[in-house]
Amino acid sequence: METYYSNLLYKKLSFSKNIIFDLSDFPIGEILYFSFIFSLIYFFFRDTKSITYTVSSILIIIYFFYISWGVNYFRIPLHKSISQEVYLNEKKIETLTRFISIQCNKLKKEINTKKTGNKNNLNSYKNIIESKNKKFKYSNFSIILSYLGIKGYYNPFTNEANVNSEIPDILIPVTIYHELAHKQGFASESDANFIGFFNAYNNHEAEIQYSASFFAFRYLYHDLYKMNPNSAENIYESLNSEVKNDFSIVSNFWLYYSNRFQKIQKNIFDLFLKTNGQKKGINSYDEVVKLLLFTFDGKNKFIFDENN
Ligand SMILES: [Zn+2]
Repeated sequence: METYYSNLLYKKLSFSKNIIFDLSDFPIGEILYFSFIFSLIYFFFRDTKSITYTVSSILIIIYFFYISWGVNYFRIPLHKSISQEVYLNEKKIETLTRFISIQCNKLKKEINTKKTGNKNNLNSYKNIIESKNKKFKYSNFSIILSYLGIKGYYNPFTNEANVNSEIPDILIPVTIYHELAHKQGFASESDANFIGFFNAYNNHEAEIQYSASFFAFRYLYHDLYKMNPNSAENIYESLNSEVKNDFSIVSNFWLYYSNRFQKIQKNIFDLFLKTNGQKKGINSYDEVVKLLLFTFDGKNKFIFDENN
C-alpha cells in the first residue's frame, strides 16, 4: 500500500489536482460541498422517491473519497513504523514538558520585543508558510467551523488544506501545517499533529515556533497531569503571565462557541475515524505525545525525516 497507493497513485493524483486547485486562494472544494448539500436538499423535497439518486450519489462520493485519499488511512501510522515500543515514561514526559514550557516563555518574549503595530496575521502567515508545495486556504465557512469545534479540514476531493480563520491567531500556524500534512498524504490525526508540530517548530519565525510549542504543551501537560498532577501544575505555574493569558484566550474562544452540536459532530467524526481503521477514533490526536517523546533528543531538538 505504501508503495503503490501512497507513494505512487496518491502522489500522481494529488499532483494533478494541485495544478488546478492551487491556482486560486479560494477554497474551490467548498463550492462543491455547498452545491452537493444544496442539491441533496433540493432532490429530497422535490421528489421523495429519489432515494436511489441519493444512495447512488453517496456511493459515488465514497468511491471518490477512497481513490482520492481515504486509502491513506490504512497506512502504517508513524508511531508504529517509527518504533514498536514508545512507552509513556513519566520522567521523559516531565523533561519534555519543562523544555516546551521554557520554549513558550522564551518565544513569547521574543515575539513581544519584535511586535510592530497591528499587522494582519492571516496575511503574514500566508507569506511565511506558503510555498509552491505548501498551498493552503482560509475557509469561507470559518464561523460554522468554529461552532462545530473545527480548526481546519482537508478536502480529499480537491486536495485542499483549509483553515478556520476565526480561531485565535496562536492556533493558526500549527493548524496550517497540520492540514498541509494531510495534503501530503498523512491521514492519521496523530501523524498530522506531529508533522504539523515538527514543521511549525522548525520554521524560522518565532511566531510560528511559538504556535507549535503552545500546541505541544497542551498535549504534554495533559498526559503529565494524568501521571503526576503536582509536577504538571508546577510546570504550568512556571509559564509567564502572557503565555497563560494565551491559554485563557483559547479556552474562552471555545467556550464562546460551545454548543450541543459539537458533541454530535465529534461523535460522527469519531465513528468516521474508527471505520477508517483509526482504532482510537478522536482520541488518536493524543498519540502525538509518543511521537514527540520518540523524536526528542533529550536536549533541544526533534529528530525526524519526513521522507523516511
Ligand atoms: Zn486532521
